[in-house]
Formats: sequence, C-alpha cells, structure tokens
Amino acid sequence: MSESSNEIRVRFAPSPTGHLHVGGARTALFNWLYARKTGGTFILRIEDTDAGRSTSESYEGILRGMKWLGLDWDEGPDVGGEFGPYIQSARGVLYHTDASRMIDEGKAYYCFCDPDELSAKREEARKNKLDQKYDGTCRGLSVEDVEERLAAGQPHVIRFRMPDEGEIRFRDIVRGDFTFANSDLDDFVIIKSDGNPTYNFAVVVDDARMKISHVIRGDDHISNTPRQAHLYQALGFRLPKFVHLPMILGEDRTRLSKRHGATSIDFYKDSRYLPVAMINYLALLGWSLDGKREYFERKSLIEKFSLKKVSKNPAVFDLARMEHMNAEHFKKMSLPAKTVVVYREMEANGLIPPEFRVDTEMPVDLKLVPGTEPVENSVGVEGWRKGRFDQKEFARLAWIINTFGNRLKLLKDIPEMLRYFYTDEFEKDENAFHTFLSEPGSRKNMSILADELEKLQYFDSSTIEETLRALADRLGLDAGELIHPCRVALCGQKVSPDIFQVIFLLGKSKSVERLRAVVEAP
Ligand code: GLU
Repeated sequence: MSESSNEIRVRFAPSPTGHLHVGGARTALFNWLYARKTGGTFILRIEDTDAGRSTSESYEGILRGMKWLGLDWDEGPDVGGEFGPYIQSARGVLYHTDASRMIDEGKAYYCFCDPDELSAKREEARKNKLDQKYDGTCRGLSVEDVEERLAAGQPHVIRFRMPDEGEIRFRDIVRGDFTFANSDLDDFVIIKSDGNPTYNFAVVVDDARMKISHVIRGDDHISNTPRQAHLYQALGFRLPKFVHLPMILGEDRTRLSKRHGATSIDFYKDSRYLPVAMINYLALLGWSLDGKREYFERKSLIEKFSLKKVSKNPAVFDLARMEHMNAEHFKKMSLPAKTVVVYREMEANGLIPPEFRVDTEMPVDLKLVPGTEPVENSVGVEGWRKGRFDQKEFARLAWIINTFGNRLKLLKDIPEMLRYFYTDEFEKDENAFHTFLSEPGSRKNMSILADELEKLQYFDSSTIEETLRALADRLGLDAGELIHPCRVALCGQKVSPDIFQVIFLLGKSKSVERLRAVVEAP
C-alpha cells in the first residue's frame, strides 16, 4: 500500500447525537493524521439520519471539539467541497436514487410488513431459540401488488435482497481477511418507513460517492461491514480499504463509558488540558511507533504515523497517564510559550490586570529571566508579537513561572497557585499562621524585616537574601526562623518556591505591606 498517493480521501462521520467523546476524537485523529501524512484529503461528514436523536448543539459541540484539537478538515458542512452536501439529511435524493436503482435491478424490494408483527415474530423466534432474521414475507410480492400498495399509501420500508447462498469477503488493514456466509445475514432495511436511509445504506452511498479511499473507524463497526460490502457490490462501487481501530477500554477493562469518568472532549477543553497533549495521548490509543516512544509533538506525530502500526489489541484509557502526558507537554514548552497560555488563563480568571500593578521600578525584563530563550524565537507567541500582552506583566509572569518550575503542571490549577502575586484575596492557611505567626516575637521580627527591606535600593533576590540572613544573624536566629513566618505572611501558605524570588516578584511595597500587616493580624 502506498502511503503517499494524492488519491487518499478519508472521513470522520460522527452522528450528532451527543458529545465528541474520546473514542470519536481518536477516530477523527487517526483519519486526520493519515490524511496529513499522505497529503490526502480529510472530510467531515455529519450522519444525522436519526432525526429524533440528532441535535444542533451536538453538531456545534463536535465542530468545537475538533477545532480545539486542531483537527482541521478540507471538505465538510461548513467549508463545502466538490462532493457535498456533507450532512446526510441534505442528501436524501441521492439515497433514493440509488435505492430505486437497486429495486429496478431486483437487488432490493419494498416490504410492507407491520413493524409490530415483525417484533412479535422476532420475540417468538428468540423464545424458541430460532433464527430472528426477517422471514422474507415481502420478497416475492408481484409488481402489481407492490404498485397497488404504494398507490394506497401503505407504510413500507425498502430491504436489501440478500443472496441466499455464497459468502462475502473484505479485507481489513489491521485485522486481515474476513469472510461471512450470506446465510448468516438477512434482508436488512436500507430505507426506513420515514423515508430516511439506514446507517448501513447511507454510509455506503456517501463513502462511494465521496470517493473515500480508506474507511477508518472504530471496530464496533466490523459487524456492519459485511452488509456494507454487499451494498458496494450491488451498487457497482469499488470497495474502499477498511481500517478498524481497536476498542478503547476503561481501566477496569470494560468498554470505555461515562462510568469511567470524563469521556467528553469538552471536559478536557474546559479543564484546560493542552490540545497537543490530548492529541498525543489519543494517538497512543491503538497506535505506537515502536512500543517505547510516547512523547510526540503534532508535527512528529504526522511524520511518524502509519496505519501499519495500528494495533488489533484494545487500548486502555488511563486518566493518570493522560495527566502525565499533559504535564510533560507543559514542561517541554518554552518559557515564553508557556507564559502566553498562562497569561490567557490568568486573564480568564480575572487576575490580570492585577489588583496591584508591577512596580514601575521592578527590574523584570524577559531577557533577565534565568534560562529564557528570546521571546522572538519561541513558537506559539503570536500574541506577544502582536503586542497583545502588557510587556512588563508578561516578563514578571514569565519569571514567576520560571521560579515555580515543574510545580506547575495543570493549567487549570495555575491561577490559584499564582494568586497571591496578583491580589490580596488569596487563601490563608490558618494552621500555618498559627504555627509561625502566633507569637508576638515572630510578628515583631516581620516588621523589622519589613523595615530592612524597605531601605533597600536594589530590590533583587540576592540582595534580599543577604539582607534577611544578616538580620537573622543580628537577631541571633536561624534564617529559617525568619523565612517560614515571612512565607506565611506573603503567600498564606507553608510552601512556596524560593522565598527570595517570591519577595522580589511580589515587589517591595507589597512585601513590606504584607509583613507589616501580620503585626496587627487577629
Ligand atoms: N455515524 C457513524 C458513527 O458515528 C459512523 C460510522 C462509520 O464511520 O462508518 O458511528
């Protein structure tokens, strides 16, 4: 199989009956990766033939989820294309044309059986452990009989006429050859009584007419494939290549469902996961480069992806691994790129602009942040280039992020962790306050420390450190006896990153103010 032909056309064909979930997104991703890898075309087709269950909210949600993941499509309902419309409810004529052709050729027939009677017959067969297939009552109706019933407006469906003998074969790229005996299949419905096509019929008409080369989808559709293969044959279309992706399981090894926690992509979007981490993780659900490497950027995924490496074995969705992947991606982002996403998150939480601005004299400059690559060279900092961010706040935030290092893992937790740099409304741990600041002596020390800090001309972290240590010596204390209460006074907590950096980044006036405030604290 060549993986570089221009003829490659793949599609993601969701039914808009719910959220875009992990399984659907994985299917979309594998199609997208294959198209991008081969220079092929990725198509989005909406399968809304189940009118009762399809909703516009679900449609919007699916598009929103795909856009968030960065899975762009070349043809689809909103962008158009040569083979549209790309919403099944707008393609009725096409299905009816093909169904009529099949009737004319004797490959399908009208069926007027009463649905209640049919289910009673099925129930009876089930009880007697007999075959529950359609019994073929309408197979042999004469043309006149059919015409009469149609003219009388009798409700009907259209059924495929399954050959009595023989078998049907198809090949799956992942799972190999399949053969099904026709005697195991029945005269299934292709057009329902409401005039809508069934899934099996619409999918074949559309895939064939949209010239889909590879049908890549979840393996829950394998059992549909023999019927679809029959339809391709009956309509005189060439079979596409089939690629059935392995099932996704929850951690208890049962099929992934809501019981296992969040499966909707919106949840991960709202929880501020990085789309690239999500893509990376989803790619590993059924694909692996060499069984070892797990970390991929978007570009390297496209480069390395191959259908040949898709596994037959079920994949397990493990939230802890997903979180780990997210943290890995965050860790590997350049500081300026990280600062851009955190800046937006802080803004969204009302923390930028801060209650108190960066001191004008605070020497924060992106060039001075330890280990920062020049912002101009970083990826993902378009907002910076366009001057969307306050330069000084940006530099200070970058420095804060740098000071926190790998403690920052999940974007959604970051605003809370950085809160005390931006507002006086932050959580104060009473326990920590009690441990370190209940004694009048330690409160007094904080006000002496405030006086010393206020006098400083150069308010950088090393001068701050020297000052604090010299003061501890003078007072006959361990440095820790000043550092711990100082941390609680400034951050409200027992833990923080390097306290001298914290004092510097909080700024002189805020630090002095908070140290003095503890003297009066209740
Ligand atoms: N609408 C079907 C689904 O959501 C598509 C199946 C297919 O890709 O053929 O499961």
